[in-house]
Formats: sequence, structure tokens, C-alpha cells
Amino acid sequence: MVEIAPPLDTHDIETGVVIIGGGACGLVAGLRALEAGAEVIVLERDPRPMGSTSMSSGFIPAPGTRFQRAIGVEETPQDFARDIQKKAAMGADPAIVEAVTREIGPTLEWLADAHGLEWQVLDDFLYPGHSTHRMHAVPEKTGIGLMTRLMAAAQAAGLTVVTGARADTLHTDGDRITGASLTRPDGATESIACRAVVLACNGYGGNPGLVSENIPEIAGALYFGHPGNTGDAVVWGRALGAATKDLTAYQGHGSLAHPHGILITWALMMEGGIQVDARGRRFSNEHEGYSEQAVKVLSQPGAVAWNIYDERLHQMGLGFPDYRAAAEAGAIHSGPDAAALAQATGLTEDALRQTIGEVTAYRADDAPDPFGRDFSTKPALEAPFYAVKVTGALFHTQGGLVIDAAARVLRSDGTALPNLYAGGGAACGVSGARVEGYLSGNGLLTAVALGAIAGRSAAA
Ligand SMILES: Cc1cc2nc3c(=O)[nH]c(=O)nc-3n(C[C@H](O)[C@H](O)[C@H](O)COP(=O)(O)OP(=O)(O)OC[C@H]3O[C@@H](n4cnc5c(N)ncnc54)[C@H](O)[C@@H]3O)c2cc1C
Repeated sequence: MVEIAPPLDTHDIETGVVIIGGGACGLVAGLRALEAGAEVIVLERDPRPMGSTSMSSGFIPAPGTRFQRAIGVEETPQDFARDIQKKAAMGADPAIVEAVTREIGPTLEWLADAHGLEWQVLDDFLYPGHSTHRMHAVPEKTGIGLMTRLMAAAQAAGLTVVTGARADTLHTDGDRITGASLTRPDGATESIACRAVVLACNGYGGNPGLVSENIPEIAGALYFGHPGNTGDAVVWGRALGAATKDLTAYQGHGSLAHPHGILITWALMMEGGIQVDARGRRFSNEHEGYSEQAVKVLSQPGAVAWNIYDERLHQMGLGFPDYRAAAEAGAIHSGPDAAALAQATGLTEDALRQTIGEVTAYRADDAPDPFGRDFSTKPALEAPFYAVKVTGALFHTQGGLVIDAAARVLRSDGTALPNLYAGGGAACGVSGARVEGYLSGNGLLTAVALGAIAGRSAAA
């Protein structure tokens, strides 16, 4: 339970900026605020900052960086903004889209130059809706690699990150936030007086009540994000009269190895793989997006599907740490032909053979795909074949507190709360109101870019 309370009579510590949440958003906000000369304390409920950031693939989309130019791609923030709005059916706030697409490239370069993070741009495949290669990753190509590097940067910069500190109360004089209180794992409480607060505590994926209330279509599914993200920003915001928006939006994923619970990269689908139901028949256009695919997979018999692909794609998958983990866990099945794969998986042999024959014909232009996918740009599937059983899951919520382009939290009447800021999953994202609106990378885009903006604004 979190709450709003009157100003503190006494406090244990005093600081400039309190940042609640120590994921990508909180750490980037902290580094920016520190650089701007503020005294900063980051509060993180876990014993070690991890968040959904550490569970993610760690891929951050950014236009116009020197890392992108190094692979021969030139693009502007406006090009990237067009892809975001196209996926969101023009449902994202243009001011926030403009702010984050402008901010993210310079922020990644600043993290490299000032804090030693190394970036590479993934150029072996495109995620659905991305018109060019713009996904940046640290060399490990994992979220845990990203968090480890951000924490090392925080330590080197002298950023104070207090762990085992669950913020549960914001104190207000009715206008400004005057402080925050926190509870330690042993029940002890501490209080901090401050001049500004940044909410970087992500969304409400870990709050079953809020998920059922706002997104009933995914309420029964596995939540694959960080369990500590219990919607505190939304609860505090509502109590303070802040506006919320697009609470129905979220990032789902339709390719989680089942029952192993390991992410199977969507690159398999983008590069030629297909998804079939338990009988061996396709049921969708796999290229529309992995987020909306969560709902489509969950509506299949048994709430599962099978990713079907071949040796070429298996080799590509082995380049991803998660895929290697799935292979080690025994989630990946293979067979020298469709009959053997059917036997290994329990799929119906005739149906599987027919499906593979159909997609081969779509590729050869002998027939159009009834689901509307263009098969012409990738090689046909060739034996030996591979399969992995997957289910759909909720990764994180995309709706949240309404902010302006300076990351200030806004009230329902459009005025700003004077010293409350939000970013990452705590703020309303750029995916519109529906699961289909999530363009791959919108999560870390708004965590890192709004973290930088919120940190700078709060310090000022
Ligand atoms: C499996 C998976 C893969 C993903 N892959 C990608 C990807 O490749 N690219 C991408 O863009 N997005 C991806 N995402 C989404 C991405 O991880 C999130 O959008 C992003 O990490 C959000 O960052 P954040 O800082 O807002 O939240 P988090 O990283 O979740 O950090 C929030 C922190 O706040 C803490 N906290 C919460 N409440 C309190 C409180 N009251 N007091 C103190 N601390 C609190 C939590 O413990 C947590 O550490 C993925 C998500 C998942 C689950």
C-alpha cells in the first residue's frame, strides 16, 4: 500500500531530488540530475537494482547516433517518430513522441562518452514496424548487461542508490511534494525531505487488481516483468489529482517458451519462421507484431502455439542468450523432416506438412497468404525443421501518468504538479491505447529518454 500524507514534522535526511525506482529510468534520471549539480537519492525496493530492465533484452531504439551511422544508416528523429505513430495508429501524444525521439540518440551518446557504456546497433534483422536498423544494445545484448553497466556508471559517478528501500508515502503540502517515506525489509521506516521527486517505479504489471481493472484481456496470462512493479506511480498520481492515460495499453509477447518461461526471439518469425496452433495450422500474420501476438496465441487451444523454423534460423537464434538458454533447457525440438518434427512435438503430421507446403507456395508467389504476410523477402523453410512450444505473456504496461515534454506530471486540468516528474513505465508511453500500438523498443526508449529529461528537469 502506498499513500499520500501531509508534510513531515521531522526527517532523517534532506536532499534535492528523490528518485523512486532503480531501473533504467531511475538510474539515467539520477545520473542526469547529478550531472546538473543536484543532490540525488535513488530509492530501490530490491536488495539489488534489477527491475524489468534486467529481465529485458536490453534493446534501445535510437535514431541518428554515431553508432547507427557506423553501420551506414542515416535517419532523423522524425523518421523514427513516424514508425512510432504508424504502429500506434497515430494514438501517441505527438509532444512526447517528439521529445523522446529527439532525446534518445544524444542520451545514448552521453552514456557512452560520460559513463563508458558501449553500444552496438543490431543489423541482422528488423523488428515489426521498424523501417530501419536502430536497435542499440550493450555488447552482452541482454538487459542484465545493460543494468550492470548502468550500475557501474552510477557507482563511478557517486550516485547514491539506497537499496532495500520501499518508498510508500509521498508527503505534500497540497501543492508541492515535500518529502518521501520508505520502509526497510525489517519494517523500520525512514523519511527524506526533498525539493523534487521523480517516479521511476515502472507500471502496474505486478498489480493483478490494476491489470484486471484496466486490461482484462491479459489478466489471466503470465506476467513476465518485475513483480515489484505494483503500480505505485498510478496510485500516488490518482491520489494527487494527476491525470492518467492509455491504461489499457501494454507490451505483450507471443513467444515465451512454455512451460520453461524463456523468451524466444521474434527474429525467428521476422526472418522466415511461422507460428502454428496445436494442430499444426497457422492462425495469424506473424509480422504484425509480437506484442499483439500474445492475445492471438492465448486464444488458441491450450493457450499455446508452436514456432516452426529451420536450421538457418536455429543458427541465427543461437546468437541470442535467451535462445541458447531455451536450447539448454530442452525447449527446442527438431526433426529431419515434417513427419519427424510432428512426432517429436505431437503436432499433426498431415497438417504440419500442409502448412509448410502452403508457406513455400506463398513465397514462390503461387498463392497469396490469407493472413496477408509477405513471404517473398526471406528464404523458404528447408528441412531439417525446428519447433518450440510458446505461450503469450504480459511484459509491461504502457499506460500511466500524463506528463508534458519536460516529464512534469500533469493534473486532469492540464496544469503541472510543480515538482513531480515521471518516466519509463510510470508515465504514459508512446504506444496509444492498445496492445497493437507497441513498437518494439518503446519500453526502454521511454525509460532512458524520459529518465534523462526527468532528471534534468527535476535538478533544475
Ligand atoms: C522479458 C522482457 C523483455 C523486454 N525487452 C525489451 C527490449 O528489448 N527493449 C525495450 O525497449 N523494452 C523491453 N522490455 C520492456 C522494458 O524492460 C521496460 O519497459 C523498462 O525496463 C522499464 O524501465 P523502468 O526503469 O521504467 O522500470 P524497471 O526497470 O522495472 O525499474 C523500476 C524499479 O522500480 C522499483 N520500484 C517499484 N516500486 C517501488 C517503490 N515503491 N519504492 C522503491 N522502488 C520501487 C522496482 O523494484 C524496479 O527495480 C522488456 C520487458 C520484458 C519483461
